[in-house]
Amino acid sequence: MGSTQGRNDWQWIKLSRRLRQELAGQPCWLCGKPIDQQLDRRHPMSFTLDHVVPLSVDPSRSHDPANLRPSHRRCNGRRGKDPSYCPVQPAEKTPPPTPIIASRVWR
Ligand SMILES: [Zn+2]
Repeated sequence: MGSTQGRNDWQWIKLSRRLRQELAGQPCWLCGKPIDQQLDRRHPMSFTLDHVVPLSVDPSRSHDPANLRPSHRRCNGRRGKDPSYCPVQPAEKTPPPTPIIASRVWR
């Protein structure tokens, strides 16, 4: 296997092009806002692919479509600097806290 496992290899370019189409219309997985695919790729709100499991954790998943989610360039970069940056996870909504009912004397 290879010498250049960079993100600019042709496999990555092909994969990102494909996913860009497949994931079109999906919101940013980090902030939940829609992504405008027409924006210039240098624009902070443009479409990028974020690695769910960061490359620093598992480089072998760099080209794994299941490990890629659509995200804004800005959000992707923010998460890159701060891995604890918490993405929105609609599937794992925390239940609302149960209200504390003031004790009351029922008659
Ligand atoms: Zn975003």
